[in-house]
Amino acid sequence: MAATGSDILWQLDGVRFGYADKPVLQGVDLALEPGCCHGVLGPNGSGKTTLLDLLCGLIAPDAGAITFAGKPLSRWSRRRLAMRLALVPQDFSVRFGFSVREVVEMGRHPHLPRFGHLEQEDHQLVDEVMEELDIVALGNRSVTQLSGGEKQRVAVARALAQNPEVLVLDEATSSLDIYHSLAILEAIRSRVRSGRLTVVAALHDLNLAGFFCDKLLFLRKGKLLYHGRVDDMLDATIIHDIYGVEARVHQDAFSGCNQVSFRLSR
Ligand code: ADP
Repeated sequence: MAATGSDILWQLDGVRFGYADKPVLQGVDLALEPGCCHGVLGPNGSGKTTLLDLLCGLIAPDAGAITFAGKPLSRWSRRRLAMRLALVPQDFSVRFGFSVREVVEMGRHPHLPRFGHLEQEDHQLVDEVMEELDIVALGNRSVTQLSGGEKQRVAVARALAQNPEVLVLDEATSSLDIYHSLAILEAIRSRVRSGRLTVVAALHDLNLAGFFCDKLLFLRKGKLLYHGRVDDMLDATIIHDIYGVEARVHQDAFSGCNQVSFRLSR
């Protein structure tokens, strides 16, 4: 069935973007529907971060159009967008020595009136996400003193404290151990399943994508080559075309997901 306007959260038509004279994204047409988890995959330098930055309005396309929730993205104010959308960037950094709790509390700022303070329900939400992401014990530590994985958990906690309808994750679990990786993805997935959240996540790990995502899109050299349901996208021919490696895909009884094994092409 063709998607109607209300089925679509983001619509990209003929989007092009380049840095200086270097084209990065070329003619991307894409419709992302709400209520599921979209994985963005592709080799290094294929344009994943650039695409996420465009979706969040951090950069503007050189050509083409992007709409979010039916309105041109360029017409959304920063604050209105932040009330609906949270980004966990690849290189989360806070310049000053804010405590972990203060950084998570910053997630509430788009929802506060000007010069307003956090209310009891804001504090409660902050408590809940800190508990969920296992960072309560880090609460008084300065974020500048955390490990890469701890910082990623704080960045996701701040984004969830924002209570967004849409979460954009750029390699947000790349520094995490497997326990925290699965715990964070499960915390996010349970919000998606209950219809409270839509996710767009750039991921490197195809097996994590198989576990976490409903839909996958593959970029190569700035072009969107494949987009569809995860079970159709985890396909040996597609993986070979995108990454140039041999792959075998099998249904894994333990995880209940499709999983991929790889080897270099001979
Ligand atoms: P990916 O996330 O898939 O690794 P990126 O979107 O980060 O890819 O980058 C796509 C291309 O754009 C790469 O060739 C990268 O070197 C280039 N690029 C990214 N950021 C900049 C920048 N600020 N200035 C110039 N080139 C950039």
